[in-house]
Amino acid sequence: MTNYVDEVLASLKEKNAFEPEFLQAADEVLSSIKPVVERHPEYKKIALLERVTEPERIVSFRVPWVNDKGEVVVNRGYRVQFNSLLGPYKGGLRFHPSVNQSIMKFLAFEQIFKNALTGLPIGGGKGGSDFDPKGKSDEEVMRFCQSFMTELQRHIGQDCDVPAGDIGVGAREIGFLFGQYKRIKNNYEAGVLTGKGLDYGGSLARKEATGYGLIYFMREMLAANGKNLKGKTVIISGSGNVAIYACEKVTEYGAKVVAMSDSNGVIYDAEGIKLDTIKRLKEVERKRIKEYVNAHPQAKYIETVDKAESPIYEIKADIVLPCATQNEINLNSAKKLVANGVEAVGEGANMPSTKEAVEYFLEKGVLFGPAKAANAGGVATSALEMCQNSMRYFWTFEEVNEKLDGIMTNIFKACKDAAEEYGLGTNYVAGANIAAFRKIADAMKSQGII
Ligand code: NDP
Repeated sequence: MTNYVDEVLASLKEKNAFEPEFLQAADEVLSSIKPVVERHPEYKKIALLERVTEPERIVSFRVPWVNDKGEVVVNRGYRVQFNSLLGPYKGGLRFHPSVNQSIMKFLAFEQIFKNALTGLPIGGGKGGSDFDPKGKSDEEVMRFCQSFMTELQRHIGQDCDVPAGDIGVGAREIGFLFGQYKRIKNNYEAGVLTGKGLDYGGSLARKEATGYGLIYFMREMLAANGKNLKGKTVIISGSGNVAIYACEKVTEYGAKVVAMSDSNGVIYDAEGIKLDTIKRLKEVERKRIKEYVNAHPQAKYIETVDKAESPIYEIKADIVLPCATQNEINLNSAKKLVANGVEAVGEGANMPSTKEAVEYFLEKGVLFGPAKAANAGGVATSALEMCQNSMRYFWTFEEVNEKLDGIMTNIFKACKDAAEEYGLGTNYVAGANIAAFRKIADAMKSQGII
């Protein structure tokens, strides 16, 4: 019956030949659930794997808008509604020039399993555009968001599909998107988007949730293996939402973050990164990370020449938290990290390690927290935001944070238990895939051929 997985993978490769990121994500999940599929020969009869790898719906649309020079610009928008077995489609919107259908599908596919792991009632989706907010004025970003939502609003709703932020979509973009949705629908449907501002339906601790959640997961993974964060040296790629709050929380646990990055380069500060400076540069001034050295001359700036191999992974560290983008750790970078004595890797970004890099870490006994488990705190807290919106009520920061901590602790336990049940030791990559897949498979069996 193992052949069933290989057959489906072969057919996916044929049908989606031009979608490498999607194929990578599907391969990673399907390869590691082989032992589950072997125990359930009935899956093949109901084409369970063929159905779980085919999106329920993909919407692709034109987004025309006018820039500050009065020129008309046309971008492409997407929403991939992959799977609604467990609840409304849920997943962020990414605005980045690299966005294409393959990246949208990989992210939406991952999201199905991640959302299942949270234990909350949310399905999997993802969307975005090849629009680049970098260097655009607030007015340009607003006009783009309004045009994007003018089409997207036909496809979403608080009980149907609930987008949130991702790369390039933060509080500013969510505000513009929400305003336009409300204007078109003439309805105050607070739960249609998450990551909203606190004064109009956002949840306390949502901004911090992905980064904090990553560190709660790391704390549990290290503890289960007799280790902890105190006194550890950490490198964090990226300097966006996930990276900033991972840095904040890991520092609270007594670790020292010595390097962060953006797409242009890396800063190394042996004394420990001063997060206030990063927050000012990135959250307020929207500047490049190299400006960090102006405020802290003891730090070094290293420019990234080869985007496929960030110099951040040449720095020695006990803990590595990739929090920027997909495939940023290749096999070569993984080898350098292992040679430098890395103990644990926690994926804050989605699929930041290539398949070869993950295999190498596991082979070398590096503890590895896979994205769909380790960064699930963001979407979990988005689901808590939806819950508060439905109640028309707010929880305090401490209440949300405590729930988030509990969810991340449970996610780690689910990964660990599944890995142990299948005799996979500390392979939490397979553990996460198996724990999530079983939930999806059970729901698919219950809901019939849809
Ligand atoms: P942000 O836009 O806030 O930050 C992204 C960071 O990554 C920036 O520092 C950016 O640098 C850097 N980056 C982006 N693309 C590249 C690239 N091609 N090469 C090098 N660096 C790059 O995004 P988030 O922090 O929200 O998201 C980061 C990752 O975490 C993504 O993979 C996202 O899918 C994932 N994630 C986010 C969640 C959330 O709640 N926000 C939830 C779960 C996962 P620059 O400014 O130079 O582009």
